[in-house]
Amino acid sequence: MMTLERRVWAVTLGALLIFVAYEIVKTVLFPHISIINSHVITVIVVAVMTFFVSRYALDRYSQALVEIQRQTAITEETNRLLAGVLATMREAVIIVDSQMRIALYNEAAARVFNLPAADAGTPGARKSETALSRGEFLSAESSNVEPAHSYRLTDATRDPAINSAFKQALEERARFELRVEIAERERRSFQLNVAPLGSDLAVGVFFDITQLEKLERVRREFFANLSHELRTPLTAMLACSETLLAGAINDTKDRNRFLKALHKHAERMNDLISDISDLSAIESGQVKLSLEPVRLDRLVAEVIATLDSRRTDSNISFTTSISDSLFVLADRRRLEQILYNLIDNAMKFNRPGGLVNLTAETEDGDVMISVADTGIGIAASDLPRVFERLYRGDKSRSSKTEGTGLGLAIVKHLVRAHGGEVSVTSDLGRGSRFTFTIPASAQVAESVGQR
Ligand code: ADP
Repeated sequence: MMTLERRVWAVTLGALLIFVAYEIVKTVLFPHISIINSHVITVIVVAVMTFFVSRYALDRYSQALVEIQRQTAITEETNRLLAGVLATMREAVIIVDSQMRIALYNEAAARVFNLPAADAGTPGARKSETALSRGEFLSAESSNVEPAHSYRLTDATRDPAINSAFKQALEERARFELRVEIAERERRSFQLNVAPLGSDLAVGVFFDITQLEKLERVRREFFANLSHELRTPLTAMLACSETLLAGAINDTKDRNRFLKALHKHAERMNDLISDISDLSAIESGQVKLSLEPVRLDRLVAEVIATLDSRRTDSNISFTTSISDSLFVLADRRRLEQILYNLIDNAMKFNRPGGLVNLTAETEDGDVMISVADTGIGIAASDLPRVFERLYRGDKSRSSKTEGTGLGLAIVKHLVRAHGGEVSVTSDLGRGSRFTFTIPASAQVAESVGQR
């Protein structure tokens, strides 16, 4: 397509040729015309031609102006959308130029790489002066974008794998996928996809896969632990039955001993399997809670009494500080299960003659219930994992105490199903405190108050 300038030149040249042709025709047709008449006619012809050439040029110019305005509006709209999309993306996005300078990055990238965040009111996409000066991407006029300092990729991260992926994408114009770890504030894993963009840029998108990897690890460990937990009682049951079949069945004393052992291990397997099916029912939302106002101090006293009678050998003392007017809105049976698991653990992992203290207080419409013990405590490295399925802290110690390793996972899911949260703090060797929240019950009718 001819540019506007060329078109105007062409039209002017055309007009000049017409004028020359006119002069020749005029001289040939009217050789005796007076000079004055000739000039008058020439001036009129030139004026008419100038009028037409100028009108043509003006028309073209205003058409071009309209087109420029239309293109600018489209660019601004595209930039606004791009900035909006980048700002709402959870993935960190970085675009670098051929000099490995950062041309554009989004809010997520600012967080991951500790780069200055976009100011309030801007949609989160920032670009460096290099890109602005070249007029790439978001136009400088766009009010949505502010020029940032010129950063190099090495200012954001010194990771050689990331830098070389961008470099290779720029040089080889090829796509790269790799797994990288970034530890700005905390160590996180990313799947990085780098691809060439336009003629001399490369874009990198960082997908955060930390949580995914954690879930995968938990899943792997769960199945490893599950087969171990199932195999232990099963091996013992096989050994008992083989001994019985080998002749021990004929000896009354041995027979009783091995049958008791068989029963104990079968019970353990039964506990494990019912805990697993209970947990998966709670997790998948199959368990429907029937919420009602529950008087907390009574329920706690009932759970303590049940556990105390079961653990006849324990010499643990209890203290409670729960107001008799405190009611929670909960599924009674499930709340009992939560308290049972927590208090049972507080007894199991206690020292002889230890203490278990139960408190409850209201906070912002919730009741915060704490179960604290003076037991063995939990190592700091185990704390984040105690709520995982089948996770048992110190294996050598835990194996001595009975339990399926599913109690706290069940507690976590039941508390969440009630809309609360559970947490733990611990001092190794001195004791632990498990705290969970449950909604307080506003309506405490006399009739239900007796429950
Ligand atoms: P289980 O009690 O059947 O082993 P849980 O899920 O209830 O399973 O607990 C998981 C692990 O958390 C336990 O094996 C133990 O190591 C640790 N734990 C739980 N409660 C306490 C506590 N009160 N004191 C010390 N360790 C605890």
